[in-house]
Amino acid sequence: MTRLFDASLLYAECGRCRSPVIFRDPSEVLLWMGIPADSLGSDCLLIYDGCPKCSPDGSLPEPRFVRLRLRGRQQAPH
Ligand SMILES: [Zn+2]
Repeated sequence: MTRLFDASLLYAECGRCRSPVIFRDPSEVLLWMGIPADSLGSDCLLIYDGCPKCSPDGSLPEPRFVRLRLRGRQQAPH
């Protein structure tokens, strides 16, 4: 039994003003970016370089897909 991450739960924010960005159809955006839905997780994030709040023309630029490493591997002591 596989649990797919719900794309609608994916968090997106503006990298400039840190406002959360609401986007209509996350799965469509991910498809367009070439990100498979089964690679999504709660550590994934979309960062927009500007949003309608801080961009004068109200446009939404292309997002960047970011994967946070909250539970990354432990660093080996040196
Ligand atoms: Zn913004």
